[in-house]
Amino acid sequence: MDAFLCPHPYGRMKSILQFRNIFEVYFLLFEKGVQELAEILIVEDELSINELIRRNLSLTGHHCTQVFDGLSAVKLLENGKFDLIVLDIMLPGLDGYQVFERAFGTPTIFLTAKSELTDKLKGLAMGADDYLTKPFQMLELAARVEAVLRRTKKVEAEFTMGNLKCDFNRHQVFLNGTVVECTPKEYELLEVLIRNRNIALSREKLLDMVWGYDFDGGTRTVDVHIQRLRHKLHLEEQIRTVYKLGYRLEVHE
Ligand code: CA
Repeated sequence: MDAFLCPHPYGRMKSILQFRNIFEVYFLLFEKGVQELAEILIVEDELSINELIRRNLSLTGHHCTQVFDGLSAVKLLENGKFDLIVLDIMLPGLDGYQVFERAFGTPTIFLTAKSELTDKLKGLAMGADDYLTKPFQMLELAARVEAVLRRTKKVEAEFTMGNLKCDFNRHQVFLNGTVVECTPKEYELLEVLIRNRNIALSREKLLDMVWGYDFDGGTRTVDVHIQRLRHKLHLEEQIRTVYKLGYRLEVHE
């Protein structure tokens, strides 16, 4: 259930086949509210497909702009800022590749009607973030859009609370400016708590997010690591036990 929760900047992607339906994906996105709204440009000349994509991505809360040819896309990209482009390759006027070259590095998912390997490879070689071969399931597109947004999203580089500082790039924790030695799992658990601060997380969720789905140990592992973090970082007050559920890092921002 934690495919879109974010243990790390890039998160972990559950196989899309593990979702029962697209509403489960939407539910997951809304449930946590971790997904920020994105500005998405849809470039697709087939009206019905373009509209279907818009409707589905709008459901997840994103703002979509639709264009139906390459030249209009390029004009919009020159003036506007988009977080992601869903870009068809076969387009009237300029094709998808030509649009991509003028996209100023905007994250892009290519749509291709062709299933030939060369097309996919060309897109990826040019630096596209992903591609989908038509016909595709909306569920698959939605999942990939979220994955790319997660990957490319600018995430906070550090977190400070009182005399505690966590450097997400260096994976280091400081107390009063001094590094506190943490095991990799202690660090990961802390990062998960910080990134999901003020949200109650069940022991099972924490176990999935930090130790992974295939971890054999029980939820007691979580309790032990929480105790260590509380003690090491003087977070006895801030890491709250949520009765019969799990834990929450309480931060007043
Ligand atoms: Ca087309």
